[in-house]
Amino acid sequence: MGEYKEAMRQARSLASSISLSRLGSLEEVVAAIERSCNVKVRLRPLPSWMPPGITGLMIPKGKKRLVLFEDRDSAHLRDRAIAHELGHIVFGHSGACADGSSVLASLLPDLDPCMVQRVLMRHAFENAQEAEAEAFSDLIMERLASENSRRGDEPLGFGEVFG
Ligand SMILES: [Zn+2]
Repeated sequence: MGEYKEAMRQARSLASSISLSRLGSLEEVVAAIERSCNVKVRLRPLPSWMPPGITGLMIPKGKKRLVLFEDRDSAHLRDRAIAHELGHIVFGHSGACADGSSVLASLLPDLDPCMVQRVLMRHAFENAQEAEAEAFSDLIMERLASENSRRGDEPLGFGEVFG
């Protein structure tokens, strides 16, 4: 997991360069990213017709960054998926990757099939970009949790503490 360690080191330095240290909500994180990366971030739930297995997409278009996320019952899992996509934005990933997926390309004619395929490879950590986005997501979720427990509005559940 050397790749992940290096990605986490970079994620920490990026987070401090855009003053993400004391933010209590994902909305504040998004606002800070918009300011420092000079982009406009749009968050939308994934369309319901999206094939299963996709947890999120990040689609860059000019200065706009469209983030589609899986609208799950668990706010934690949903925020994680969003934070992962924000990681792609912060690391400046353009979406360049290997080959496209023709099945998804036909379902999503407006999207770059390479980008869709990249998302599908998320959990494998098969490329550095996924490790970077995942490290950023871990960092953000950890900071949101500690900030929220300091603010006292969302104490950790017992399951998380003792599980
Ligand atoms: Zn990803």
